[in-house]
Amino acid sequence: MPELPEVETVRRGLAPVMMGQRIARAEVRREGLRWPFPPDMAARLTGATVTALGRRSKYILADLDTGETLLIHLGMSGRMLISGTSLGKFHHHHPAPEKHDHVVMDMDGGARITFNDARRFGAMDLFAIGSAHPLLARLGPEPLGNAFHEDYLVAALAGKNTPIKSALLDQRIVAGLGNIYVCEALFRAGIHPARKAGAISAARIAGLVPIIRAVLTDAIAAGGSSLRDYRQADGELGYFQHGFRVYGREGEPCPTEGCAGRVRRIVQAGRSSFYCPRCQR
Ligand SMILES: [Zn+2]
Repeated sequence: MPELPEVETVRRGLAPVMMGQRIARAEVRREGLRWPFPPDMAARLTGATVTALGRRSKYILADLDTGETLLIHLGMSGRMLISGTSLGKFHHHHPAPEKHDHVVMDMDGGARITFNDARRFGAMDLFAIGSAHPLLARLGPEPLGNAFHEDYLVAALAGKNTPIKSALLDQRIVAGLGNIYVCEALFRAGIHPARKAGAISAARIAGLVPIIRAVLTDAIAAGGSSLRDYRQADGELGYFQHGFRVYGREGEPCPTEGCAGRVRRIVQAGRSSFYCPRCQR
């Protein structure tokens, strides 16, 4: 499932073909994905120019000169495919739409952007710029934004009886953090995922803030380099492999130098947590 760094990578990959460009033609090939698409979505997109391309949590937000924002959520398996960019405005050819190509946007500049989603947990919606969208309501601060800082996190977790892992996955506390990067951040911080959030010292909680930022920034940087490879290949945005230190490494030796521990997996709230029982307390 794409997490914040993957979504940010997709946003950056879309920027050159979307920013400032007009959607010459939009095609909506089914009624909806996780939820129905908004009424007349193709007509509302056609002719609109993208004036800003941002991200909030795991949602890509494209402001349009029609006064609406296009919200894109990749869900579990959503991918954005770009074709036709390097071939020029008049000579592009696009592959025929495939089974899971649900929304197609042909940009004035010649690029075709295709939203492909095999499992259909993704979403697209249109709403008035600046208005409240239910998916964006109640989201906590962005982990890479200024509102997410040491004092904030210490106060947000004070007295919390839930495990630190669950608290960091709570989108009201911090937006966009998912299972993979919470595991990685707790490993770097040396905090056991099952520790009660409110029982961890303020100093250790404060220390999590720069670690969370670093884990995400590293992954975004890795995504940036994979983006350059994608461009040469088939223009697919959305998935790349990172060198995770503990995530998905059950039974492997702990990557900390001198540690004889092995990565352990436990299930918390139905999701796997990977950690080193020696390094993380
Ligand atoms: Zn270890």
